[in-house]
Amino acid sequence: MKIAIIGGGASGLAAAIEASLKARERKIKADITVFEAKDRIGKKLLATGNGRCNMTNLNDNIRYFGDCEFASAVLKKFSVQSNLKFFSDMGLFTKSDEEGRVYPLSNQASGVLDALRFECERLGVKFVTEYEIKTITAKGNTFLLNGKEGYNKVILACGSAAQVKSFNGYDLLKSLGHTVTRLAPSLTKLTVADSQKLRVLKGIRHRCDLTLYIEGKLITKEKGELLFADYGLSGIAVMQLSSFVARHFMYNKSMPKVKIDLVPDYSADFISETLFAMVKRNPEGSAGNLLLGFMPKKVGEAVMKDCGIKKDSPMKSLRERDVFKLSQTVKAWELEINGTKDFSDAQVVSGGADCKEFYSDTLMSKKHKGLYCCGELLDVDGPCGGYNLQWAWSSGRLCGESVITGDIK
Ligand SMILES: Cc1cc2nc3c(=O)[nH]c(=O)nc-3n(C[C@H](O)[C@H](O)[C@H](O)COP(=O)(O)OP(=O)(O)OC[C@H]3O[C@@H](n4cnc5c(N)ncnc54)[C@H](O)[C@@H]3O)c2cc1C
Repeated sequence: MKIAIIGGGASGLAAAIEASLKARERKIKADITVFEAKDRIGKKLLATGNGRCNMTNLNDNIRYFGDCEFASAVLKKFSVQSNLKFFSDMGLFTKSDEEGRVYPLSNQASGVLDALRFECERLGVKFVTEYEIKTITAKGNTFLLNGKEGYNKVILACGSAAQVKSFNGYDLLKSLGHTVTRLAPSLTKLTVADSQKLRVLKGIRHRCDLTLYIEGKLITKEKGELLFADYGLSGIAVMQLSSFVARHFMYNKSMPKVKIDLVPDYSADFISETLFAMVKRNPEGSAGNLLLGFMPKKVGEAVMKDCGIKKDSPMKSLRERDVFKLSQTVKAWELEINGTKDFSDAQVVSGGADCKEFYSDTLMSKKHKGLYCCGELLDVDGPCGGYNLQWAWSSGRLCGESVITGDIK
């Protein structure tokens, strides 16, 4: 049986290994080739987790893929524990942090890629690099790749348009009669409607709590370091919010709001009491210094400006209601979000191959027997924290298993 895997990334390599292992187990002769457009396999993998590769997450993975039943079927079959064993069988061991994020013991993404590559080599998987698959043609029981040589089974593991120069995975899907859903950059930075007021804050980092509201409805909350930029907001917590914002803007134009709690450890009452005490203590001091003890000076000044308080005015000129407003605003500084950064800035893409056109128990296409799809190319994406690689390993392994075993539908 000849099997072609299009894409030598996380899901494609997991698929190649699982298919080889299952073929050995069942004594089936399988000739497996991974086609990779780039000069090396696994280049994106090397960039994951800032070079450390956040491989998965010990928290309930399924919950993080929302209501996606399709994803949960796959993630149940190849669970976190099963994937950790998959790697430890290759000799790669891991550690986790307090948020459940799992990293290789070496702290090196290159170690994860090496483990996958060496295992592929041990199992006799062939690699054809610098070879982009431009056409896939279904012909009888086989598939022709770039018009040449037929393969009995093809696994599409092309990834997504996130942070790549060119990408034809969606065209390949469409050429095979599959639907590609709307696409949006996700796990990226947020752009703010009135970004002018953030310009002076560019580069400032501050630990905050963030709450996302869409059409007045509370969507999600995140904690973490916020990085201010001249276009808007960045940082891990912001990236987590971006997946909701990205999906919202696929179908709607209304602007979501982010409320920033700039002083998460103190209540509004405590802050107002403190501010009143400071005004009393130093009535001639400038108002701009009022928030110094709670946040970076420029952030405090920007909030004051939003509250209509002049930073150079003396503290004694503040009215009681100004101080109340200020203490409320630092607990919920509201910014309107008018978009996300584009695909070149995104870690993943929301959208992709329509899951309804694939069987969730095998990941085989309902349109072409022998065609499979895994990883980010499918319309499945999760938040930051290792969830997207978990999806890549699980869906890749399921494709690998299915090409050898249960694809009879
Ligand atoms: C900077 C960055 C950091 C990230 N960090 C994390 C993290 O720490 N944890 C996490 O869970 N997720 C992380 N992600 C997301 C994660 O990397 C992806 O979700 C995951 O790699 C998807 O796996 P995949 O196999 O679907 O695609 P990929 O890993 O992108 O692999 C697809 C491969 O297919 C090749 N290809 C595409 N089209 C063709 C074609 N026509 N012919 C031949 N080859 C083709 C591509 O060149 C590529 O090598 C990160 C993403 C980025 C961009």
